[in-house]
Amino acid sequence: MSDCDFCVRIEQGEVIEQSTLAVAFADAFPISPGHTLVVSKRHEPDFFALSDMEQAALWVIALRARDRIMADHAPTGFNVAINVGADAGQTVDHAHLHIVPRYAGDVDDPRGGVRWVIPEHARYWD
Ligand code: 5GP
Ligand code: ZN
Repeated sequence: MSDCDFCVRIEQGEVIEQSTLAVAFADAFPISPGHTLVVSKRHEPDFFALSDMEQAALWVIALRARDRIMADHAPTGFNVAINVGADAGQTVDHAHLHIVPRYAGDVDDPRGGVRWVIPEHARYWD
């Protein structure tokens, strides 16, 4: 069996959406209700090393996951993000895209969204 948790989950078929090249499953430590990961079936750490077909497949599954999240949780917004490399914050070395549902009032001031990856530069509007 693989020593990659994402590969194990894929091998065991514990997914909520799948195609020949991509799957989706719930994040084990969700940022918000419905936080979903869209993951390549092939073990490859670097999202940008996936083939064009694999990257496109991730997006097709992301759209399906989005529809499911809307039906289950009715969020009022989303953050969609990919961490590529340890210096960008990637902690699981198997390429994946985060779909993070957002809800009105979940933080005091949501402005900036993914700009908060580098907090001192997030607030460009000040
Ligand atoms: P990264 O930091 O690599 O972009 O994101 C890794 C994500 O994987 C994190 O949001 C974390 O909560 C999630 N995660 C870590 N281990 C597991 C696991 O074993 N199963 C699932 N479903 N999610 C995991
Ligand atoms: Zn893997």
